[in-house]
Amino acid sequence: MIDTHCHLTFPDFSDRIGATLAEAERAGVSGCITISTTTLDCLDALAIASAHDRVWCSAGVHPLYADTADPRVNAKTGDAHVWENLRVVAGHPKCVAWGELGLDNHYTTPARAIQVRVLEEQLAFIQRVNHAGQGGIGKPGLPIVIHCREAFDDLLPILRSAALPADRFVFHCFTGSPAEARRVLDFGASISFTGIATYANAADVRAACALVPADRIMIETDAPFLPPLPHRGKRPCVPAYAADTARNLAQLRGVPFELFHEQINANTARFFGVREPLRP
Ligand SMILES: [Zn+2]
Repeated sequence: MIDTHCHLTFPDFSDRIGATLAEAERAGVSGCITISTTTLDCLDALAIASAHDRVWCSAGVHPLYADTADPRVNAKTGDAHVWENLRVVAGHPKCVAWGELGLDNHYTTPARAIQVRVLEEQLAFIQRVNHAGQGGIGKPGLPIVIHCREAFDDLLPILRSAALPADRFVFHCFTGSPAEARRVLDFGASISFTGIATYANAADVRAACALVPADRIMIETDAPFLPPLPHRGKRPCVPAYAADTARNLAQLRGVPFELFHEQINANTARFFGVREPLRP
């Protein structure tokens, strides 16, 4: 399977990306998508994806970095972001998604208004890329990885008002209730689950996982965070653990692992265009 969402640019993995990928391969996790969080991090993500056959990347600004005033960034204009970098990364063949972008109401900073502005700027940017076609301005039609934490009421109307197809969104690391999962599914998006969905005390998330249709579910680690059972509490979480989450969730959904494995691989291939390697 593929770990559809991890952060290989985080310091936990510096100098050990090769070992991390080898460990994943041994666990049956044949590739990963390393997800961007800022307009500088996306360059590092692309560098890792370019250096490793079975790693892909995304381009986007995480809502918790919406106000990142990195001194390396646009010192002259004071803008926290270098939007041009997103364009460059998105145009590369190893970039398979936008994101992660969205809203996070769990923390009080960055202020909601800043998160909303950066989200809307990104959605407008993606729409411009989609309309411009292939002419050297990123790839049209890339799927969009959504970060939504305690923010369904605010986020869904914004996504609805964007001129982007709903089935190209995935709500990653879903931590909502079954009712919130229904709202995401009614909107038309896919839903992706991390190790949180394996925790017995996450009954709501597990109930939500059980109701997602087979063709709308994906799995991920969000490494270096959120290790699934039986690794809970370890740091870092690693892409290899995607296999533990997949086994646990197959059981939760009452589906034989081999069938669930086929379903998530088919969904990952359709959504991100990333496939398991053919094996003899
Ligand atoms: Zn993430």
